[in-house]
Amino acid sequence: MSIKVCKFGGTSMADGNIMKRVADIVRSDDERRYIVVSAPGKRFSADIKVTDLLYRCAQAVKSEGSCKAVFAKIRERFLGIAKELKLNLDMKGILDEIEETIDRTGSSDYAASRGEYLSARIMAEVLGYDFIDAKDVIFFNAAGMLDERSYSVIFETFKSVKHAVIPGFYGMGADGEIKTFSRGGSDITGAVVACGAQAEVYENWTDVSGFLACDPRIVPGAKNITSLSYKELRELSYMGAGVLHSESIFPVRKANIPIRIKNTFRPEDEGTLILPSVYYKMQEHNNIVTGIAGKKNYTVLFIEKSLMNSEIGFTRKILSILEHHNLAFEHMPSGIDTLSLVIESAQLSDHLLEQVEAEINEAVHPDYMRSLENVALIATVGHGMASNVGTSARLFKALSDAEINVRMIDQGSSELNIIVGVDNADCEKCISAIYHEFFTE
Ligand code: ASP
Repeated sequence: MSIKVCKFGGTSMADGNIMKRVADIVRSDDERRYIVVSAPGKRFSADIKVTDLLYRCAQAVKSEGSCKAVFAKIRERFLGIAKELKLNLDMKGILDEIEETIDRTGSSDYAASRGEYLSARIMAEVLGYDFIDAKDVIFFNAAGMLDERSYSVIFETFKSVKHAVIPGFYGMGADGEIKTFSRGGSDITGAVVACGAQAEVYENWTDVSGFLACDPRIVPGAKNITSLSYKELRELSYMGAGVLHSESIFPVRKANIPIRIKNTFRPEDEGTLILPSVYYKMQEHNNIVTGIAGKKNYTVLFIEKSLMNSEIGFTRKILSILEHHNLAFEHMPSGIDTLSLVIESAQLSDHLLEQVEAEINEAVHPDYMRSLENVALIATVGHGMASNVGTSARLFKALSDAEINVRMIDQGSSELNIIVGVDNADCEKCISAIYHEFFTE
């Protein structure tokens, strides 16, 4: 029987009623064998996610010596869910033990992980499935990265288990203590489990019906993307199209497992299918552009020097200055005598930017250098762009018609994306202009 690994996000775990809905979805397809869950998320916009409350618990231990007051909110929420679902679990006993451990250790990773742990204990009980603790199958190495050993342990553990629920977001650190992925990391757990269990598909259940061609807050009614490739997804999610954690793609991509994004609240919707590029290219596609995404707050450092391209080591000297300051850069468009570095502004305090500029001056004596702040990067992404003549002409004409000043252009070497830098203030207008050029008749 083929295997589907399903991950349900925080809104799908928000209360007992929604958990029942999740159980119905899982039961409706016997191939949905391994279920990864997030901690209960917000029930209404002013609500607080359980994970956020748990982080506050760890802080309270540090500042007040006890998490009692904050933990009371978590206790109330889970006791409410247990009552709603008439669970046969000693919820009070489990909660007491967690509170005691948070108070004793003050560990924020341990505290944060307990939302997923509790969701998984509950869902295992509701479904009558085995509970497999993530700490026994997901491991981190000493560098804090996923230890590849996790895949074989998952394979061995799951091969004799027909159905199981696994908490997302955490695993066991190299020091033997609970360690979490970065925020939103249950998506990564789902991908790792799908890969380890050699699943046919990784279903990621959330509260939207998949990826839209752009942010619907910018273009209301933006079209749904029914299928896209991993490469396209990587570009779009890195640039802020936030349905999936950007690191969750790697494990499943490596194993050529498709991801299907589905909506718990509209399970009949098709959702978005994310395919390995080889499969994706075998499909029929009419679209040139698959999606558009943007991110604000970058700083661009323009460097100009005549004959720089014949000066051996010029770029290396500049990049080692960034390395020395532990600065990552996003893009590096260059011309014969010019080079630009695009850096996330959050990494650069005023003082650091000045220092970097001074060191670059000293190292390579540019003819001219200046920095431009408050730049938004907009990525227009699509495999179809490479084979369609005139795509960039259409894109730039649309921007010029909308009177948007393009401050920087960068095209990835795979012709999969065209990135433009515009003023932060023009970001939404830019996305909307590109969308209307390629998606409306
Ligand atoms: N609960 C965690 C968070 O809020 C992880 C997740 O939901 O994926 O970040």
